[in-house]
Amino acid sequence: MEMALFEELFSSVKYILWDYIRFATMAFVLFYFILKRPLWFRKIQKKMPKLTDYSRDIFYSIVSVAIFAIINTITFYCLIDYTNLYYDFDDYGMAYYAFSWVWMFFLHDTCFYWTHRIMHHPTLFKHVHLVHHKSHNPSPWTAYAFHPLEAVLEASILPIIAFTLPVHNSAISLYFILSIVFNVYAHLGFELFPKGFHKTWIGRFFNTSVAHNLHHDKFHGNYGLYFLVWDRLMGTVREDYDSTYETTTEGQSELNVIGRAKDSKAAKAA
Ligand SMILES: [Zn+2]
Ligand SMILES: [Zn+2]
Repeated sequence: MEMALFEELFSSVKYILWDYIRFATMAFVLFYFILKRPLWFRKIQKKMPKLTDYSRDIFYSIVSVAIFAIINTITFYCLIDYTNLYYDFDDYGMAYYAFSWVWMFFLHDTCFYWTHRIMHHPTLFKHVHLVHHKSHNPSPWTAYAFHPLEAVLEASILPIIAFTLPVHNSAISLYFILSIVFNVYAHLGFELFPKGFHKTWIGRFFNTSVAHNLHHDKFHGNYGLYFLVWDRLMGTVREDYDSTYETTTEGQSELNVIGRAKDSKAAKAA
């Protein structure tokens, strides 16, 4: 039993660490090296994070991965019989399966918004949440950079989901991976959504990379995770959000500019 528990914990560490490393590495190589120049106009803060920011974020992220693995092992190995996980799609049907996705996103976003606001209380901020905010200019490596106490809080969402409404095994596993991918996007430092997206009816309620980047840069406002629904309801969307989104997305790719300059030169010559 003890050996099996240890093996389970080890495999959990391996999977979560691999997810963090592969998604953060892919984003980092792609945006901080390969596409850095052509997409620089999409860089939210026009400067690169420092090497010490990367190393600090990676260190805290690895500690967070271990904490996530411990909590996941307790929930999905030791306490699996007490969870509401199910394995047969026919148990609740596909309509319920679709609803369970909405439920997971809503529950997580709501828990995140309120705990995040609480963590901005001066005492909790100074002793706990400050670790995540040390990166004023976040990078993909910031995705899991939490103080260990905050990591416990963040990791608790999976047991909260598993112990409330029934969720299919595949849904919660995929949800966990998607949440890592989203976290990497939120801390990417580059905005991927198109110009004007923040004004669309979906975009108004979506927590873009610009929105979360502003939270890191300015410390207050934009507390949501996936959505800005709670921020809009509670009046905590930052006033400079729209203008920052616009200045980040209105620029031109350097390649386009070079391409257009060549075209106009060719037109003049002709
Ligand atoms: Zn914060
Ligand atoms: Zn963050």
